[in-house]
Amino acid sequence: MKILFASAEAYPLAKVGGLGDVAGSLPKALRALGHDVRIALPRYGMIRDVKEDLGPFRVRIGGRDEEARLQTSAIDGVPVYLVDKPELYDRPKVYEYEDDGMRFGFFGKALLDLLPTADFWPDIVHCNDWHSALAPAFLRTAYAADGRYRPIRTVYTIHNLQHQGLFGRDLFDWTGLPAVAWGPEGVEFYDRLNFMKAGIVYADLVNTVSPTYAQEIQTPEYGYGLEGLLRSRASKLSGILNGIDHDVWNPAKDALLARTYTKTTVEKKAEDKKSLQKEGGLAPDRKAPLLGMVSRITGQKGLDILLPALPRILRRGAQVVVLGTGEKQYEEPLAALAESEDGLVAYLKYDEALAHRIYAGSDFFLMPSRFEPCGLGQMISLRYGTVPIVRATGGLADTVVDITRDAKQGNGFVFSDYTPDGLEDATRRAMEFYRAGRGWKGLQRRAMAADLSWKASAEAYTRWYERARGG
Ligand code: ADP
Repeated sequence: MKILFASAEAYPLAKVGGLGDVAGSLPKALRALGHDVRIALPRYGMIRDVKEDLGPFRVRIGGRDEEARLQTSAIDGVPVYLVDKPELYDRPKVYEYEDDGMRFGFFGKALLDLLPTADFWPDIVHCNDWHSALAPAFLRTAYAADGRYRPIRTVYTIHNLQHQGLFGRDLFDWTGLPAVAWGPEGVEFYDRLNFMKAGIVYADLVNTVSPTYAQEIQTPEYGYGLEGLLRSRASKLSGILNGIDHDVWNPAKDALLARTYTKTTVEKKAEDKKSLQKEGGLAPDRKAPLLGMVSRITGQKGLDILLPALPRILRRGAQVVVLGTGEKQYEEPLAALAESEDGLVAYLKYDEALAHRIYAGSDFFLMPSRFEPCGLGQMISLRYGTVPIVRATGGLADTVVDITRDAKQGNGFVFSDYTPDGLEDATRRAMEFYRAGRGWKGLQRRAMAADLSWKASAEAYTRWYERARGG
């Protein structure tokens, strides 16, 4: 199949978070299955690796013909189309500009208008999150009568429902979408233009990045007001788990570690623990359970329950290493706790190499998320034999099985109540299991045995594309 994979981020050309990881690896895995996948991305200021300029193309938006240029690049052999429109994209960051509505409204239209210049007519346009979500709306309206566009089917993936892209009526008028699209059956959401809703309403098929999250977003607790719409689309909604890149995340070959190890030599992980303790100024205690966390420091990631639970967890003899950046309201109390409590180290920065050392050097990995569309941290930690302690939500519920519930399949510790007590109880059980020693190595090995590569995801997406084509 021919697939145009549209995203606002794709690692390594442009990455802010998990979406960048997915858009950098899923197309590669699809290509390995034989599909002709090409990525489309705005050409931001930080993208220097431009290969070719295919020339100008016209984008009809804002009541006039705008000119953009189509350039190319590549990610691990996957061709990339760059939409070059300097006044919109030639800036240092990917997001967080006043005119993001225009920037990504333009992108949604350009995705379709670039096809003649690219001379690439995809079977599927795969849009991801709100930044590319207008493309299905344009395709089903302005392009419906164009024979070249009519066979194209669209798939829309929700990576995080929290960020929907909400703008005023004036932006809707600017897009040139027909008046019928303004209404509850279209892109309107309480008098505003909702990009996310456009993707859900107009794409042929919609999916999220885990089966549990696909169910959760149909409830008021997780649906951000779109739960009713999502319930009405339930027959065209699914959940497909992300994978992780086994070349990047491989404890047997990871050059960033003090000591590499495999499933059969997992005891060598102790050296990574020792060096992580040393790096953080923690007591060199082999027996103290070491809990690691690599995460954005935000409400989504469970900081509300972690902060009050931390002193109690430390009192039970744990050592805790946290790496992350995010919201001041959580960063500040976390830094203060790290000052006052022995056994807690907080690195408030972004550091890929340190992340690897934490994944390898910890005994446990903490992920007490309030909600989690898929989550990569728990999958990476499993691969490193670092036992995840997670809240049963979204992708965490789909990848981590509690060992106390299922001694044979269990690969971690899971709690349900989003409370400090819920988290504390899970860490208590985890630390007791660790200290008792029985079954610990087996648990680490089982964690490492899980196949979390992109291959299974790419196969699931292939079936999803086939369904979108009516197969
Ligand atoms: P999200 O995309 O919601 O932030 P995920 O768990 O899906 O959460 O992905 C987060 C990714 O970013 C993981 O690969 C994690 O290791 C990495 N990461 C998060 N914060 C940091 C940090 N401060 N330093 C290094 N890597 C980080």
